[in-house]
Amino acid sequence: MIPNSSPSGLADTPPAGQSHRLRWLLALPKLGIVLLVMALISLLVLLHRSETEEQRTTLIKDVLWLEQSLRFHLNGNQEQLQQLAIELPEGGGEKLFRLRATHMLKNSPEIAQILWLDAHGHIVDALPTEQMPDTGGGPSARQISARAMELADKLSKPVYSETFTPPGKGAFVEVLVPIRHQRKPAGVLIAVYPLASLLSTQIPWWFTEKYRVEIVNDENTLVATQTAITGDSGQMYQIPFDPPGYGLVLRVTSYATPDNTLPRILIAAIILLAIGVFWSLWLIRDLMRKRSRAEEALRSEHAFRAAMEDSLTVGMRARDLKGKIIYVNPAFCKMTGFAATDLVGTTPPMPYWAPENLAESYAMHEAVMAGEAPPEGFEMTFMRKSGERFQALVYEAKLIDGHGEHTGWMASVLDITERKEAEEMARQQQEQLQFTARLVTLGEMASTLAHELNQPLAAIASYNTGCLNLLADGRASNSELQPALEKIGLQAQRAGKIVRRVYDFVRRSEPKRAPCDLRGVIEDCVGFVETDARRRQIRIETSLPALPPVPADRLMLEQVLLNLIRNAMDSMGDTPEHDRLLGIAACIEGNEVRISVSDRGCGISPEISDKLYTAFFTTKPEGMGVGLSICRSIIEFHRGRLWAEDNFETGSPRGTIFLFTLPLEST
Ligand code: ADP
Repeated sequence: MIPNSSPSGLADTPPAGQSHRLRWLLALPKLGIVLLVMALISLLVLLHRSETEEQRTTLIKDVLWLEQSLRFHLNGNQEQLQQLAIELPEGGGEKLFRLRATHMLKNSPEIAQILWLDAHGHIVDALPTEQMPDTGGGPSARQISARAMELADKLSKPVYSETFTPPGKGAFVEVLVPIRHQRKPAGVLIAVYPLASLLSTQIPWWFTEKYRVEIVNDENTLVATQTAITGDSGQMYQIPFDPPGYGLVLRVTSYATPDNTLPRILIAAIILLAIGVFWSLWLIRDLMRKRSRAEEALRSEHAFRAAMEDSLTVGMRARDLKGKIIYVNPAFCKMTGFAATDLVGTTPPMPYWAPENLAESYAMHEAVMAGEAPPEGFEMTFMRKSGERFQALVYEAKLIDGHGEHTGWMASVLDITERKEAEEMARQQQEQLQFTARLVTLGEMASTLAHELNQPLAAIASYNTGCLNLLADGRASNSELQPALEKIGLQAQRAGKIVRRVYDFVRRSEPKRAPCDLRGVIEDCVGFVETDARRRQIRIETSLPALPPVPADRLMLEQVLLNLIRNAMDSMGDTPEHDRLLGIAACIEGNEVRISVSDRGCGISPEISDKLYTAFFTTKPEGMGVGLSICRSIIEFHRGRLWAEDNFETGSPRGTIFLFTLPLEST
């Protein structure tokens, strides 16, 4: 009923100012989210930085602590050796050495061996006693020791040797403590440290869990390492390893701890959440846009609808399922004279129902509520507020809401009073026209009738003269007079019939459908025109099988047939005399009878074939042009059809056949 899209196209373009404001409104949360994400990322970067700083500080602290602890330990060992170096020249000899060395080895497992060398560099004693293959075997090792010994003697204080690496072994370092007796060199005490075991024994487990500890020489060659973990290294810090010195460096590398996973998950979660929020915001933006478009379309639609409703001349009335009026349009109010407020909310009996038709109105109302209203609409008499009655044509349709549910009934109401009056007037005019046509036909038949009546009257007159002559001669006998008088009676009856037929034909009467002998009708019509046909040298041939009675108005059928026959005869004015043939045939086809009137006349040219049934169309100088239009309305009144075809009886088109059908059953 109402088009889906607005014809003005307003629905597609919201007003500029509003959309601008909407865009700003939509941009604000987006900006907020972007700022939030940026703040979060900055926070994370700062956190990461401070964490790195903290890690580095911790690393440095730990490295310093380690270096200090190693130094402290080595110094402790060194002091013990110094103490022994002081005590040994004072006596006690090997026994003292062994006692102290055993004690030291026990407390400092990192020491591989403690040696006592005399002033000439010969081993006086050693613990463990077996010769250390590393220290004792290789000349290089001893050379290193000799150089260190020399230095120790020279400086007269403990000295560390350079690192040395016997083949197939780890790196070693020795501490040499000179023994002096009466200010003269009296030997040296040596403690041999394998650097690997120095690291493994002196570095606590928790340290190795966090760091890799390496000792690197001045050529950046790794000489010992200690760690309990593998993986990616992080920060690194190195510090000179002195003692022993000689360019040794203690390098500590931290490892990325598995604890990093949690912050990473957190970062990922924050980023994902931000993306999620952004995405949902995007969706909301889309939804809001769609919504605002839909609202705009709805507004236009509403305006369009209101304009349309106001311009409607058809009354609209909506009722709910219980029959209460829920809506009326201005046209309905104008039609009934009631205001919308008087009507909306009312239930039957409605104020516009005519009191005299209350029962009928109720019945129709019930039918509508039961969904049985005729789809082609129904007529009702309504009453205006002024009391005036009017005829209304009502069409009822289901009222379906936005969810597709049936919520009531919508009726469109047409005031058909004027139309009805016009129809009535047209009907009366048509009747008048038919009557006039009959009069015209009558006028045309007047001469034919004169001929027809002439015959029986002449016969009556001659029989009468014969009878009178017989009576005058005195020869009149009963047997001679009776047949003549009977013939006079018959002829008088015939003349009477002719007169009655004319009277019937002219008499104006309402159409009456009654079983009608079609054959008789056709024969009567032929009887009417026979004389005229003879005068015009036209042969009439009929082919009429036995036909069942047809429900029809006899007089109207006669009018149709006479009109078709007369037209056929008129069309053959220029046809050669021997060819002037008028055929009337009837046959049954299915449940209808078909009658045809054919001629061999001038035929109907295509230019005029469309206008044949238009009233007052004629090609004849003295014609009225209403015959065929009346014929068609009569046949349609009988629920039949009337049409014309070219006549092909002679092989080539020659003349016209007018055909009409009539149903055999009255419905
Ligand atoms: P009228 O006979 O008064 O002219 P009709 O309505 O009966 O009015 O006919 C309209 C016109 O149709 C005629 O003037 C004629 O031109 C044409 N017409 C009707 N019947 C025939 C026919 N059998 N053959 C040729 N023309 C015909």
